[in-house]
Amino acid sequence: MDHAISQLLVPPNQKIRLADIDPDDTHGVKKEDSKEILKQNLKRLSVLQYLLYAEARRALLVVLQGIDAAGKDGTIRHVMTGLNPQGVRVTPFKVPEGEEKRHDYLWRVHNAVPEYGQIGIFNRSHYEDVLVVRVHNLVPESVWSERYRQINEFERILEENGVTIVKFFLYISKDEQAKRFRARLDDKQKNWKFSPDDVKERSYWDAYIKAFEDMLRECSTRRAPWYVIPANHKWFRNLAVSQILVETLETMKISLPKPAADVSKIRFE
Ligand code: AMP
Ligand code: MG
Repeated sequence: MDHAISQLLVPPNQKIRLADIDPDDTHGVKKEDSKEILKQNLKRLSVLQYLLYAEARRALLVVLQGIDAAGKDGTIRHVMTGLNPQGVRVTPFKVPEGEEKRHDYLWRVHNAVPEYGQIGIFNRSHYEDVLVVRVHNLVPESVWSERYRQINEFERILEENGVTIVKFFLYISKDEQAKRFRARLDDKQKNWKFSPDDVKERSYWDAYIKAFEDMLRECSTRRAPWYVIPANHKWFRNLAVSQILVETLETMKISLPKPAADVSKIRFE
């Protein structure tokens, strides 16, 4: 698995062609082995979260992007389970409204950055402002094209102030999306998840792919890297995301804070 992880990382300034990546890829991992590895990863995540919470000096920000039905919600459900709810904050980003619309596009994002000690999960993010906004010409190119640089600068400021950032692009094929839409239509339990807009958005598939490719090339930095997760197989997606989260937290080298007093001297009745 470790070997696979480095292959999922987008190196800075690298031109990515998504057509060269197989969304079915499982990097040699077998499904029957994945259950146990996932279980171990979730256990380790919980320990690392405890350290982060106790240290309370740094935060982890996890960004999830992907086309409709790519599995953003499912990833949160399966990978973040086992974390202490007190130390996690999930923020979904929808079409901006109200106060959000009356501010610059990063305002609502900065506001949702996790506090020190916490893990923040963005279900969509500021990247929508170079994705949906670009695909539908919601602002002119002269505006969205500057945002790659602005986003890198914004993320750099966060990173320099104790926020470790890791970004996942969940990559599914167009066929897989059709399959998942169909399931949403066929299964009464899933009907609510289907939005007529999803079908409309699907017709912009190629434009989205191009926007995703530019996002990956422009905004995968050493400090805030993008990973492309082949996500047709949900079990592999969960495994890969959990593994990268564990490794990211491990590299932060978090340790428990020193006790506030010499605990050996404390007596009470
Ligand atoms: P969902 O994630 O399915 O709840 O859908 C949220 C919708 O909000 C998606 O269609 C996003 O593309 C859209 N959205 C999120 N952020 C923005 C943004 N900054 N501008 C326009 N649409 C957005
Ligand atoms: Mg949706």
